[in-house]
Amino acid sequence: MSAVDPALDAPTARTWKELALRVDGCTVCADLAASRTCTVPGVLVPPARAPRGRRLMLVGEAPGRQEDESGLPFVGRSGELLDRLLAEVGVARDEVTIANVLKCRPPDNRPPRRVEINACRPWLERQLVLAEPDVVVALGSTAVTWFFGAGARIGALRGERVRREGYTLLATFHPSAALRFGPRGRPMAALREDLADAAALLDPPSAARPPGAGGQGPADRPSE
Ligand code: URA
Repeated sequence: MSAVDPALDAPTARTWKELALRVDGCTVCADLAASRTCTVPGVLVPPARAPRGRRLMLVGEAPGRQEDESGLPFVGRSGELLDRLLAEVGVARDEVTIANVLKCRPPDNRPPRRVEINACRPWLERQLVLAEPDVVVALGSTAVTWFFGAGARIGALRGERVRREGYTLLATFHPSAALRFGPRGRPMAALREDLADAAALLDPPSAARPPGAGGQGPADRPSE
């Protein structure tokens, strides 16, 4: 049995780093723990670079091969595309907090299983609390279902700005779908449009409140 229990250990993680260490020791999904090279907890933007009003968080599905090898999210082809599309809308990758529904790579890139998603759920729930995002973008059907429940459809949810406690949630296609359908496919156009919508919801860089400027500023957040 795993010494780490996400249901107990995620809610009590005081910082992202502490959470990442606990994720690293998690063996609840024995097959994934046995086959992974690294866990991929995700990347939090340091608070000094994430003033209130400009905190964007992207949520993907699960690590792929390159993420499993590096321990970093979205470093493969999907990540390159994301970087490019974010740059088009004036957002640098290092300004964005990124996490996945699963923290371990499913072998052969098979889709995550429901039991795995449920077991991993408390980690991402806690990450949403620690990151205090203003805008969250769910990328692809696994992330969209995680937020909206079984049966949620990207096509139906796209374009809606859904207010959740503390942040605005958008649903869109996964970059891998955009790559699969090519530059002229609908997922690429939709992803581009939806990232532009996410960027439009953020304060412009100059208007963002600096750390410590009042309210729940990033300097107050015990998130790193
Ligand atoms: N796909 C994802 O959903 N997440 C990653 O980190 C990489 C590819």
